[in-house]
Amino acid sequence: MTATTDAPVRAARPRRKKGEGQWALGYREPLNANEQSKKDDNPLNVRARIENIYARGGFDSIDKGDLRGRFRWWGLYTQRKPGIDGGKTATLEPELLEDSYFMLRVRIDGGQLDLAQLRTVADISTEFGRDTADLTDRQNVQYHWIRVEDMPEIWNRLESVGLSTQEACGDCPRVILGSPVAGIAADEIIDGTWAVEEIERRYIGDPELSNLPRKFKTAISGHPSHDVVPQINDVAFTGVVHPDFGPGFDLLVGGGLSTNPMLAQRLGAWVPLEEIPEVWHGIASVFRDYGYRRLRTRARIKFLIADWGPEKFRDVLENEYLKRKLVDGPEAPAPRTPGDHVGVHQQLDGNYYVGVAPKVGRVTGTVLNRLADVVEAHGSTRIRTTAQQKLLVLDVAPDKVDSLVAALDAIGLEANPSPWRRNTMACTGIEFCKLAIVDTKNRADLLIEEMQRRIPELDEPITINVNGCPNSCARIQTADIGLKGQLVMENGAQVEGFQVHLGGALGLTPGFGRKLRAHKVTAVGLPDYVEHLVRAYLDQRATGESFAE
Ligand code: SF4
Repeated sequence: MTATTDAPVRAARPRRKKGEGQWALGYREPLNANEQSKKDDNPLNVRARIENIYARGGFDSIDKGDLRGRFRWWGLYTQRKPGIDGGKTATLEPELLEDSYFMLRVRIDGGQLDLAQLRTVADISTEFGRDTADLTDRQNVQYHWIRVEDMPEIWNRLESVGLSTQEACGDCPRVILGSPVAGIAADEIIDGTWAVEEIERRYIGDPELSNLPRKFKTAISGHPSHDVVPQINDVAFTGVVHPDFGPGFDLLVGGGLSTNPMLAQRLGAWVPLEEIPEVWHGIASVFRDYGYRRLRTRARIKFLIADWGPEKFRDVLENEYLKRKLVDGPEAPAPRTPGDHVGVHQQLDGNYYVGVAPKVGRVTGTVLNRLADVVEAHGSTRIRTTAQQKLLVLDVAPDKVDSLVAALDAIGLEANPSPWRRNTMACTGIEFCKLAIVDTKNRADLLIEEMQRRIPELDEPITINVNGCPNSCARIQTADIGLKGQLVMENGAQVEGFQVHLGGALGLTPGFGRKLRAHKVTAVGLPDYVEHLVRAYLDQRATGESFAE
């Protein structure tokens, strides 16, 4: 029965839309604790306190606001206490979850390392990081077990060879991804190295850009293989030939994964190499001023792009920041899948580069020092990290290639890896990450071994990305088989496992993997699950049909 009443019907009061905390619209008062922390003190200032106070006083002397906030601007996060299971990740207080040791990220812009830099990175690992040195999927090196007492010496050593940890993490411009074969690849459209270096020189550490709403990821590559995964960066410059002006870059903005994945959108503009730093600065400034600062979960630039659309974003960029129009341009051609440069390839100058696959990006300082010796003995001086957790050796003379490949193989760096090893990535996971729910690196390592044994004849690359939680540091949604760590039920008990996302891809036909609710797998059952899935694909595929299709 419906109740009736004579009371006057009031028109619903229109709800006032909550502001998003955009500085350009007058919201200067911090709307959450992270914004407050950044307003209280520019996070870059924490370096002086680390050197003058905390390195002397030790872990217990660190101010908690610095420890859990501003330290990140210098590449430092506390790591997870050993032995705490993933079920406690969301419930334990931070001080119970965090260890007194740090993860330290070294930014390697463009992935460029010379021998002195490689040896320095290696020595820091062996002397201060218990021989840990993970290659990340953003061309960085990441140590664990770092003590705050050692930071002044670590910075001394890194900076003596031109490396840095500045803005390696935090709400600021992170490492600039660059093609690892820039300037040497025979099929390169344009070399973007100058722009990578110039942005780093002009803007990294600029206090005007050190308080962005959230992290800001950049990719610049003139290689046609999309080797720096432009579609999932906040801003990307991708090589393309303009019919009138020649080689330059297609501009994309607003890509990102995590819990609301979005692909970057083209602004329809063509940017010549020499204008990249100015245009990049304009985009970072739009983000700083118009980016959302109310909720951390809506603070990446992708949300602004989703609301505004690329046309409005380009208008604001041109009219308010650049004070000029950009040139319209064509879309950069996309490869079937992003390139990883593994194997032996001829360079433009007749020499060769050799790409190798460490297992899920895990190496050690010891291995990196051996790598330096091997590279030097074969007459090269240049090494590159990649956005796929791989390593490249450049400038190898034709008569040295076979010997180099054998020497690299002997230290566990394979130039001819199995497709399983080549196409599996893993994030840090529960070993060190405070947000993790499950183990990743060791689990992925075991999976690779098992799959090499069970299906050695795999003739089609199938990407497997293993993540320890929904944050997608190893790109859950863009793999053929994306694995998101979570606890799953088995025989009435919670155990480590994964939610599966299937059919993700970047490149020519990009799309995010579908989350199949029924596809939850225990960590122990992972090899059986992957084998079943891959055998079904191999049995049923049409000619030329990829796994994602
Ligand atoms: Fe940590 Fe989660 Fe990122 Fe993995 S995906 S490194 S577990 S935050």
